[in-house]
Amino acid sequence: MDDRTRALAAAHRAAQEFLDTVDERPVWPRAGLDEMLTAFGGELPEEGADAAAVIDELAERASPGLVAIPGGRFFGFVIGATLPAALAADWLVSAWDQNSGSSTMTTATVAAERVAGRWICDLLGLPASSAVGFVTGAQMSNFVCLAAAQHAVLRRAGWDLTRRGLRGAPPVRLIVGGDRHGSIDRAARFCGIGADELVVVAADDQGRMLPAELEAALHAGEGTATIVCLQAGEVHTGAFDPIARLVPLAKEHDAWVHIDGAFGLWAAASPSLRHLTAGAADADSWTTDAHKTLNVPYDCGMAIVRDPADAVAAFRTGGDYLMYASLDPWDLGPELSRRARGVPAWAALRSLGRSGVARLVDRLHANARRLEARLRAVDGVQVVSEVPFTQVMLRLWDDDATRALGDAILADGTAALTGAQWRGRAVLRCSMSSWATTESDIDATVAAIARLTARLTP
Ligand SMILES: *Cc1c(COP(=O)(O)O)cnc(C)c1O
Repeated sequence: MDDRTRALAAAHRAAQEFLDTVDERPVWPRAGLDEMLTAFGGELPEEGADAAAVIDELAERASPGLVAIPGGRFFGFVIGATLPAALAADWLVSAWDQNSGSSTMTTATVAAERVAGRWICDLLGLPASSAVGFVTGAQMSNFVCLAAAQHAVLRRAGWDLTRRGLRGAPPVRLIVGGDRHGSIDRAARFCGIGADELVVVAADDQGRMLPAELEAALHAGEGTATIVCLQAGEVHTGAFDPIARLVPLAKEHDAWVHIDGAFGLWAAASPSLRHLTAGAADADSWTTDAHKTLNVPYDCGMAIVRDPADAVAAFRTGGDYLMYASLDPWDLGPELSRRARGVPAWAALRSLGRSGVARLVDRLHANARRLEARLRAVDGVQVVSEVPFTQVMLRLWDDDATRALGDAILADGTAALTGAQWRGRAVLRCSMSSWATTESDIDATVAAIARLTARLTP
C-alpha cells in the first residue's frame, strides 16, 4: 500500500475506534490542557515520519483530552453531534480539496451547497430567492447579516458605505434584546458599532423581547436608520422572541429585521413546533447553524439574506457590481479560499429527507421534555426554564450547591452540562442537540444528577 492509502486506513481505524467507544468514555476529558501540551509538545523533530505512523501517534496522544461530543450525553453549550452521512461527506470534502469560492471553477461543490441552501430555506419556511452564504458558524453569520443590514439601511439613507466608509456616515441604530447571544455584540463590533451604541430592549423572565418595549424604542429614534435583531432560541431557556408580533412593529418603522436562529430556526422544520417561528419569513436576514440542530460537523453556519444584492453589496470581491449575477460564494461572505463546508449539510439533508429532519427536531424536543419531567421529580432540583424547545435549565437550592453539582457532574463523567448565570443566579444548562441521545441517556443523566445532588444536600 502507498503512504496515502495507509494513512487514510489509519485515520479510518482511529475514527471508528473513537466513535465505537465514545459512549463508554467519561464525557468530560480526563486530561487538562497542560497535560495535552506536554503530549503534543517538545521540539519540532528534525526528521519527518511515516504518514500512517503520524496518524496513529496523533490518535493515541489526543485520546485523554478528547470530549465525548459525538456521544449521547454531551449537553454543554448548544452543539450537536454528527450524522453518519454528514461525517462521511466531510471526509470527502477534504479528499476532494475543492476551493469553493468560485462557481465558475468548483462547479460540483458549489452546486451541492447551493441546493443545500435552497433545501434549508424550504425547510425553514424562508424565501426561496434568498442568498445563502456558507460561513463557519452563527457568529460569522451574524456578522455577515449585520454587515449586509448596515449597507442596506445606509444606502436607504443616501450613503454608499462601500465608497465612503463609516466615518461621517448617518447614525445607524442597532436594537437588540436583553438576552441576545453574545455573538451579536461581537458582530456589531466587527461592523464598527460599539457596545454603548446598542439599544437594548428588555426581555421577560424567559428571555423573550417585550413588544411594548420594542415599540417604545422604535418610537424614540424615529427617522434614524434602524436594524432590529430578534432571536429564535435563547441559549439558556430555548425561548423564542414573539416574532410574529415584533417583525410588523419593526417594519412599520422601516427597520431591517435580522433573526438569530442559530439552533432555534430549525423548529420550523417540524410541523408540531413550527408555531415557534411564525412570522420569521417576513424578516430581512437570518442566522442559522447546520452544526447545531442539523448535526453536521463544525464549520457550517448559514448567513441567509432575503435580497442577494444586499449581501453582495457588503462582500463583493471585485469592483464590478455585475459579479452579483453569478452569485459566487465569495460574494456572500468574508472569505476567498475555503473548503466546501456546505457539502456535509447537503449529505445530512439527503440522508434525512424532509420527514427525517422533522423527526430529528421532534426527538430533540421530546428529549428535553423527558429530561425536564424526570428532573422535576428529583429532590432539591428546580427546573427554571419553560422548555419550549431543546434547552433545559436547572438549579439547586443555592448558587454554591448549583456550582458544586456542575463540578461533580463533570468529574463523574456520566454527562456534561455547563454552568451559567441566569438573572443573577447560578444555573446549569442542558442542551438536547445530539441525534445520538437516547431515552436511556436521559435517564442515566438524571440518575447521576439525583445521586450527586443527594450527596450535596445540606
Ligand atoms: C451558538 C449560537 C451562536 C454562535 O454560533 P457559533 O456557531 O458558535 O458561531 C449565535 N447565536 C445563538 C443564538 C447561538 O445559539
